Amino acid sequence: MKRALITGITGQDGSYLAEHLLALGYEVHGLVRQTNLENASESHGKNLYERCKLHVVSLDSFHGLYRLISKVKFDECYHLGAVSFVGEHLADGFHTIFANTSGTHYLLAAIHEMQPTCRFYFAGSSEMFGRPTSAPQNEQTPFLPRNPYGISKVTSYHLVRNYRATYGMFCSTGILYNHESPRRRPEFVTRKITRAVARIKSGRQTQLELGNLEARRDWGYAPDYVRAMHLMLNHSEPLDLVVATGVIHTVRDFCEVAFAHAGLDWKKYVVTNPRFFRDEDAIPLQGNPAAIKQALNWQPTKSFEEIVCEMVDHDCAVENR
Ligand code: GDP
Repeated sequence: MKRALITGITGQDGSYLAEHLLALGYEVHGLVRQTNLENASESHGKNLYERCKLHVVSLDSFHGLYRLISKVKFDECYHLGAVSFVGEHLADGFHTIFANTSGTHYLLAAIHEMQPTCRFYFAGSSEMFGRPTSAPQNEQTPFLPRNPYGISKVTSYHLVRNYRATYGMFCSTGILYNHESPRRRPEFVTRKITRAVARIKSGRQTQLELGNLEARRDWGYAPDYVRAMHLMLNHSEPLDLVVATGVIHTVRDFCEVAFAHAGLDWKKYVVTNPRFFRDEDAIPLQGNPAAIKQALNWQPTKSFEEIVCEMVDHDCAVENR
């Protein structure tokens, strides 16, 4: 039986990955901060965390990570834990950069010293491209991060490359574009929209305030993306790969599909509020998944419309409970 460690196990990706690995017969371990478990178990698969072995260890603590990795032998480590949401990381850039880069570095150092055969996956992000000069982006596109989160991800990416080059460790970075699901945190625009649709449908809300409706993203399906993570660590060689659909849609497209699925006309409910506007770029974050398709035969299983409808159905079911 293979044994895996997941940091960020209580997040959207961590929960799907834990389920995926359990279904494949893995023994799944996860790092948690004691305080965030209650919220997680409520929104994620029931009893999921009872089937995992959880360790209260902070990514800020080299000592804690070192002790865990010297005690338990892991075959694979998926490092998903990070300070991630835009509001959070702009508010405290020092903390974002420090926590995200040192967490990656501590894990790599502990694995290198105690279990150099453990394979390591690092959750990179399209934010590493920041303000790209061309679209779609691929593995050769230069990184131009534009916020502390993006900078922390680029730094971690270089740490991963260095441990691979210097020590021959099997470590890979997945450069993941936005990926959504009913477990997406409501601060993200997709979940904000699908939750609002459910509330408007039930009469508990009358309008939805959004920022730029023309903002574009390459939106994929979170369970497809955790499958990509596992494929990356089970490939014959470590690779850094873009994980994306290659297709972009606007926030307006998302609204159209989401409201229509509930039998509503989005134009009657959506208003824009400058409070939610952000600087948008002429060149969108759009990934080119050619390399991962070629190397790992990875394909997304759900279309944009299917993802939106699944999220709306979920939120309507929660609303009507
Ligand atoms: P991220 O910015 O890629 O991490 O993901 P978000 O879901 O927060 O935002 C995706 C896009 O939607 C961005 O271009 C936002 O500017 C745009 N957007 C438009 N209206 C909103 C809104 O009300 N909330 C958020 N979070 N994003 C919005």
